[in-house]
Amino acid sequence: MTLSVAIQSKHFANGHCAIRDLGFTARPGEFLAIVGPSGAGKTTLLKIISGLDTAFEGRLQMPSAGKIGFMFQEPRLMPWLTVEQNLRLVDKTADSTKLAQSLAKVGLKDCANLFPNQLSGGMQRRVALLRAFSVAPQLLLMDEPFQSLDVPTANQLRAHLLELWQDIKPTVLFVTHNLQEALALADRVLFLSTGPSHIALDLPLDLPRPRGVDSPAVQALAQQLLQRYPDLLKGRVD
Ligand code: ADP
Repeated sequence: MTLSVAIQSKHFANGHCAIRDLGFTARPGEFLAIVGPSGAGKTTLLKIISGLDTAFEGRLQMPSAGKIGFMFQEPRLMPWLTVEQNLRLVDKTADSTKLAQSLAKVGLKDCANLFPNQLSGGMQRRVALLRAFSVAPQLLLMDEPFQSLDVPTANQLRAHLLELWQDIKPTVLFVTHNLQEALALADRVLFLSTGPSHIALDLPLDLPRPRGVDSPAVQALAQQLLQRYPDLLKGRVD
């Protein structure tokens, strides 16, 4: 879906201004990474876009019937439900064959009847990833979803994410503070300033996919960016 965001300001009840003059438009199917230092307002921005936080000045434009998928840092599975039951919570009509196929796609064949505590952290995230896609979202909001995973597990999840994205093609907003991860995944990276946050740099990427987090192209671009903007990850491009 085309998503158009124009936030003039976001104040919390205590008067703190977290966002000021932040605007961008995302094309249907575009994969945007949002990078910014801790406290820059990334989570606040996702909450506004998801509709969870309506107390802001400004405008959001997106199709009213557009479905939104979410994935957070914690898998947030229901511990008393099996993998299949967790997925059915969001897609009640899914038939068992389709569910089994989806599970196999992300390497979870034969896991439908297991409970979350019988799965590794990486497997739980794969279920959370499938759950996010199982509503066939037009917009997918991801808040540091692969944080604190070991490198091979995170890389595997990134590959699954890209496969699912290419199948369903939602517009993706992927929040991370990992520059290489953003450069490896996205079509475009929005770098946020420190609060009150705005977009410090809007960077389109034209590197061919697949591009690993550790690939020479990603490493070279990261180095180039940090040479040009030494304080980029602190939210400054001066
Ligand atoms: P990020 O996700 O980039 O780490 P957040 O969106 O969580 O940042 O927070 C942005 C800023 O708003 C921070 O300075 C944070 O302390 C502040 N903030 C977040 N939630 C509240 C709240 N409920 N009340 C007051 N200030 C808040």
